[in-house]
Amino acid sequence: MYNLNGQVAIVTGAGSGIGRAITMRLSLEGAAIVAADVDGMAAEKLFREIKDLGRRGLSLEIDVSIAKDVERMVKGTMENFGQIDILVNNAGTGSTGLIIDHTEEDWEKPLQVNLKGTFLCLRAVAKEMMPRKRGRIVNIASIAGKSGEEFIGAYCASKFGVIGLTQVLAKELGRHLITVNAVCPGYVWTPMWENLALWFKENFPSMAELSPREVFERRVKAVTPMRRPQTPEDIANLVAFLVSDEARNITGQAINVDGGAVMH
Ligand code: NAD
Repeated sequence: MYNLNGQVAIVTGAGSGIGRAITMRLSLEGAAIVAADVDGMAAEKLFREIKDLGRRGLSLEIDVSIAKDVERMVKGTMENFGQIDILVNNAGTGSTGLIIDHTEEDWEKPLQVNLKGTFLCLRAVAKEMMPRKRGRIVNIASIAGKSGEEFIGAYCASKFGVIGLTQVLAKELGRHLITVNAVCPGYVWTPMWENLALWFKENFPSMAELSPREVFERRVKAVTPMRRPQTPEDIANLVAFLVSDEARNITGQAINVDGGAVMH
């Protein structure tokens, strides 16, 4: 366990999957939590669970790709807690299909949410962290940000961008004693992967008879040395370490949690 007592953490995309696990973990470590999600009901439900455990926090309905929403998130956090110590840029979305078949919307959606959303949150939160000369930022990228994958081209481009942005910000914010790292999950069964598995079923006759979960398991076994999926808690474990004092000299890194699927 790491002691985050007295610290304030914003987690975007907190209402589901990996974001939910990260939020619960940082809350159990002692941080006050701002659970932000475009799905306000999901964020509110999570906030109530946190409150029932006797922990501090609040929930906000915001779209990370809209600058005004992000400003509202930072303002709300500062008004309620007076400081921001940790930012986890986790909100994400995807699109599917060959790049040559991508519509402009297919292209723009992941770029807007995953890359622009990360930029907007980084920009707004870093300005609050800099005067205090402390801060921990973790961007949830993907192994698809390190190795191109067919059928998720725009998503890959967005996640390569997130890793690039992580390196830039680590250099720009290092002098303010703020660390910026990326975590790259491999295969985690969440609503995002369920949607992808449905697309594979619809587009590949060999998978038509499989359940979405079977499509996912088949993929995991084919490409992962450990031959098992990762859990949201596996990802939260690394995030908890990276935001702790013990990781004070780790910055600009993009670390995989993927059972060995990608080794760079
Ligand atoms: P998920 O769909 O379960 O959760 C994503 C959350 O982000 C949802 O609560 C959603 O409402 C929220 N969200 C989406 N668009 C938003 C926006 N514009 N503003 C605010 N919130 C928004 O997906 P997940 O699998 O938990 O994904 C979390 C992160 O992990 C994403 O960045 C994803 O790219 C990344 N990731 C997931 C996997 C995986 O295998 N599941 C692998 C690699 C990376």
